[in-house]
Amino acid sequence: MVIGAGIVGSSIAAQLPEDVAVTVLDHAPTGQLRGSTGRAPGLVGLFNEAPVLTELARASAALYDDLEFNGERAFDRVGGVEVAFTPEAVAKLEERAELAAAAGLPHRLLDAAETVALAPELIDPAHCVRGLHFADDGTARAGIITAALRKRSNARFVDDAAVVGIEIRGNQVSSVRTATESFPADDVVLASGIWGPVTASLVDQQLPLTPVAHPYVHGPQRPRSSAPTPFVRWPEHHAYARDHGARLGLGTYDHTPQPVPLDQLGQHAEQPWPGELFDDAVRRAMELLPAAHRFPIAERLNGVFAMTPDNLPLLGAFPDIAGLWSAVAIWVTAAGGAARGLVELMCDEEPTIPDLDRLRPDRFADQDPSDLETRALRLYRDIYATA
Ligand SMILES: Cc1cc2nc3c(=O)[nH]c(=O)nc-3n(C[C@H](O)[C@H](O)[C@H](O)COP(=O)(O)OP(=O)(O)OC[C@H]3O[C@@H](n4cnc5c(N)ncnc54)[C@H](O)[C@@H]3O)c2cc1C
Repeated sequence: MVIGAGIVGSSIAAQLPEDVAVTVLDHAPTGQLRGSTGRAPGLVGLFNEAPVLTELARASAALYDDLEFNGERAFDRVGGVEVAFTPEAVAKLEERAELAAAAGLPHRLLDAAETVALAPELIDPAHCVRGLHFADDGTARAGIITAALRKRSNARFVDDAAVVGIEIRGNQVSSVRTATESFPADDVVLASGIWGPVTASLVDQQLPLTPVAHPYVHGPQRPRSSAPTPFVRWPEHHAYARDHGARLGLGTYDHTPQPVPLDQLGQHAEQPWPGELFDDAVRRAMELLPAAHRFPIAERLNGVFAMTPDNLPLLGAFPDIAGLWSAVAIWVTAAGGAARGLVELMCDEEPTIPDLDRLRPDRFADQDPSDLETRALRLYRDIYATA
């Protein structure tokens, strides 16, 4: 039983062996992605300073490469570029380039003119000093990936099915309950994203995950650019942008982190726009663009995703309950690979992804929950760093 049919639950269902009977339950109606997957603009940057995340991203991108649904491609290797405006930021890019080389990831440090040429609508020649280009990065349509994996899998997907109970016999999971039905189960995977702590609490387990609100805005429709544009990040300004084809999009972490209490989550990974706090952050991010390409905001999204105290997923077995597994706090960037890693653990297969033990869901056991939340929120502005 997999609880959650977002990109993580669907990736797990698609990669479990064909002779395993898999059911995926989700409380959303058919065709709706109410979780974070339905909100992600889909930047897939392969390099991370935590080697385990780089490996998960590589495996994910390899899985996404071939996927399509209803004729629409799921993933485009348009590349990604990190832009530096100051000498300090250049030094950081140089450090990251060295680590990327050690990880064997294609990358290139560029001068200002080369950097601007990659994405002239997004990178301001008046401020750009250098760039770091990752040619194998890409942009994902997370909804298309999820639909394609769902179609590829042999699992039974049950929608409109909110899980309200998980039964344990001895110390082994035995079934999962919705309001109307009970499903026998030898293994239960919590792939319930930001709702992870809620589903874990059904069996008195804790998942130290903090849902946080995050602003992303779209510009108005515009003629498509002729060449594919890499996505752009300004790490020193905690902001990023991408060309969605028919419009531009911009996101920012440059604001006081906004945790969303579990009892305010509802059933959508979306919250009301909080006004000034996000408006100001978006205004600052918009000023990073060349003056001629700053855009009026046509759509605002306050999406919710999961953070952990070390910016790493919570992936693996719960040690106290046999057959109970966690697969939460996983980005689109890491979902396919994390699912592959979990399937290998569940099926005692030879591991293809090293160091998964670092992601054990019980690694923060017995630590103070409010301290864990503080640590998670401290990482919000530096989302690509790990503690
Ligand atoms: C604004 C925004 C921008 C982002 N940008 C990026 C990005 O650029 N790149 C990137 O890699 N990632 C990005 N992310 C993060 C990424 O979207 C998530 O990490 C990822 O989609 C999580 O997938 P998931 O399957 O774990 O969770 P979800 O997609 O949330 O799926 C969990 C599912 O569990 C179901 N569920 C929960 N509880 C129950 C229950 N009791 N019973 C039944 N079903 C249940 C929910 O209905 C939901 O469908 C972004 C997220 C947001 C919100």
